[in-house]
Amino acid sequence: MELPIVLTASAIEMSDFGLNPFISFTGGFPSKIVPQRILKWHLYPATKDNGDSTAAFAPYGMRKIEALLAREFGESNVVTCTPSNLPKFVGPETKAIGISTMDPLGIGFVSRTYTSLVGFGREPISAAEFRELMNNPIMRKYGSKIIVGGSGSWQIIRGNMQDAYGIDTVVIGEGDRAAAEIFRKAVQGEPLPKIVQTEKPKMEEIPLITKPSLFGVVEITRGCGKGCQFCSPTMRTRYSFPLERIKKEAELNARAGSRMIVLQTDDIFLYKCKERFIPNKKAIVELIETIDRIPGVEYIQPAHAALSPVVYDQKIIEEIAPMLVEKGRWPYNGKKVASIEVGIETGSVRLMEKHMKGKALPLEVKDWPEIVTQAIGIFNDNGIYPLATLVTGLPDETTEDTLATMELVDDLKGTKIFYVPLFFTSEEDCLLRASRQMDLRHLTELQWDFFATCWQHNIAIWHPQYRPLYAAGAMFGFMFYYMWKHGAKVLQPMMKLVGFPKS
Ligand code: SF4
Repeated sequence: MELPIVLTASAIEMSDFGLNPFISFTGGFPSKIVPQRILKWHLYPATKDNGDSTAAFAPYGMRKIEALLAREFGESNVVTCTPSNLPKFVGPETKAIGISTMDPLGIGFVSRTYTSLVGFGREPISAAEFRELMNNPIMRKYGSKIIVGGSGSWQIIRGNMQDAYGIDTVVIGEGDRAAAEIFRKAVQGEPLPKIVQTEKPKMEEIPLITKPSLFGVVEITRGCGKGCQFCSPTMRTRYSFPLERIKKEAELNARAGSRMIVLQTDDIFLYKCKERFIPNKKAIVELIETIDRIPGVEYIQPAHAALSPVVYDQKIIEEIAPMLVEKGRWPYNGKKVASIEVGIETGSVRLMEKHMKGKALPLEVKDWPEIVTQAIGIFNDNGIYPLATLVTGLPDETTEDTLATMELVDDLKGTKIFYVPLFFTSEEDCLLRASRQMDLRHLTELQWDFFATCWQHNIAIWHPQYRPLYAAGAMFGFMFYYMWKHGAKVLQPMMKLVGFPKS
């Protein structure tokens, strides 16, 4: 059945990774190590369809656009499907194909870091899958206009790939206000602008989803406002969505069979926060209790949390942790635990003051290392084992700054935390967009050591039983490979990673 508007995303972005949102990070790892066909089967199987080839679940942002377009053009004129089902819906009547993407060229924080570090894949999996989608002959077979949006669309402009991929319009920014007009032009055959930089929507312009989202995502806040210079959410207007609205979207997902609800936010403590980012305990507890009561919800996963509010009012964690642990997705040593992504970024107070002063609010940035250690302690005491990002190569980072981060990692030794160390990346939609990005060539011996220390911690805490395997593999394979590729400066870090000398 051909339809005028067809929405899709690359195969990897149409998967829920077996209901494991943290594994979706692997989209930033190199392709070609394992054949894509096998990865599609085992790592990121496509979302199932509804029996009529429409997608049962889809990325949350795409569901928002779908809701807007269905309101504008009628539900029967808009469909969302996986790439493999495109031939079922794209035909001579199709005027526009809308594509949502988070990492089309693999140049986001995770992709740049891990594709270059591992080094022997040609491109990140996310980029390989996006290329496969764009090279699908159905895209251009009937002259449909191709419109690409989503949080990674800036990469297409930065990478100068718009013409190579035959994309008519790249939408940069939130699509809630602009989407209807762009698709109207496409449907009526009017010329389309090559790039649309969207205006910020008002909260009432942001529609509720009407069909279920992957991972059961529901948005609880949008934007941030703490002003970290490397971060794009801070550029968006901050909203906390009304509880009734959040509940409706969560219920819709649960009714559709999503066992998980991901609470999408850049910091759960922003939810209805007070002046100076003082967390609103009552509102946060009520939010978690409301989701906890929805029938069919087995897992509740808040996306991100800031660290300072945990220390500012630890009672919030004490009240919500039992519900989050009970509905945690991951076991640790045979018992359920909860997890959440947090941003440590650096142990250097100087860099914090320079690039992300607001991150420590409502506490003082001068106390950042103590805030981090206290917050992780409070999380762990309550059964929450966070996944933490750290960024190396921030503009103007000195040896002393890297050492300060190493000291902080040392202070956190033994804590239940999973580190994701990253290269600084200047994404388009942030205040540091013109700054030089960190890359492998400029990594100092100390920064190599920093990466090795983080991963040594991860292996020791999360997979101690595999350590001998990592050691053997690294000794006979990776170590020589890395030394050949990057020189003697990697020797000590690699020895550390495999446990010599023993930490
Ligand atoms: S606190 Fe987090 S979400 Fe807010 S601006 Fe900083 S990095 Fe971005």
